[in-house]
Amino acid sequence: KRELLLTLKNEKGITLDGKKILTYANIGDSKDLAAVLQNGAEGIGLFRSEFLYLEKDTYPTEEEQFRVYKTVAETMAGKRVIIRTLDIGADKQADYFQLKKEENPAMGYRAIRICLTRTEVFKTQLRALLRASVYGKLAVMYPMITSVKEVKKIKQIVEEVKEELKQEGLEFGDMEQGIMIETPAAAVISDLLAEEVDFFSIGTNDLTQYMLAIDRQNQELDEFFDAHHRAVLRLIYQTVQNAHRAGIWCGICGELGGDLALTQLFAAMGVDELSVSPGNILPVRKAIRETDTGKIREEQLKKWL
Ligand code: PEP
Ligand code: MG
Repeated sequence: KRELLLTLKNEKGITLDGKKILTYANIGDSKDLAAVLQNGAEGIGLFRSEFLYLEKDTYPTEEEQFRVYKTVAETMAGKRVIIRTLDIGADKQADYFQLKKEENPAMGYRAIRICLTRTEVFKTQLRALLRASVYGKLAVMYPMITSVKEVKKIKQIVEEVKEELKQEGLEFGDMEQGIMIETPAAAVISDLLAEEVDFFSIGTNDLTQYMLAIDRQNQELDEFFDAHHRAVLRLIYQTVQNAHRAGIWCGICGELGGDLALTQLFAAMGVDELSVSPGNILPVRKAIRETDTGKIREEQLKKWL
């Protein structure tokens, strides 16, 4: 079976009626790069940069980060690599950040909220990313966005960083900038957010947690956790439609993206990219190639939404 799948390694995810859906990889460590290549990923859709921070007992320097991002960009040789900026807090803690203990960490001081208030930490990462983007097709993606105001602020900081690099005579490249849609607020205002960025990537793990108000870590709630809840699937569809109306692309990088029961639905919705763990790339690609969106569209939308 694995041999059969491997014949798809150099193929693309194109539906029977000719619609292309990119199959990208999620990685949480540069050690995962071998698996990305072995499974023929067309790019990296989610590079969880937290590991750079979690494996150390002090902040990773600009140079350390630059080297890692440059290696990934070069290894992927012109294929798109989407690096998510620091998503720490909640379940991911590093002592040297000295974050206060919180009653509700999942709804607390985490991810972009830390970056927008500790801008030196954020700027160090942005500098490393911009400099590394000279060596490949890097894109940057921001987690836990809830408002247009945050995105405007981020873009302003990116412009400041570029200006600083220019002043210092350091070379930097162009990066697409996208956001994760992983809060219900972001999904609901995705029409407005789409005007500000180059792409969306839907983080279904957090989106489901916040939409259903069910802690994603609490296994005792499993019986209430419906990964296929219509509320979540409808929100995904609205987000894809809002992205396309504004002329940007929209992918999915949460676990749901690799759920083969939903591949036909996502194709019917017009999702542009599915970013999944390396082992899921070829099965998802196979499912895409067996789908005729023209035929199943109405039926799939009716069944799930
Ligand atoms: C998500 O929330 O769906 C996601 C991809 O990010 P993480 O699982 O790292 O929170
Ligand atoms: Mg998330």
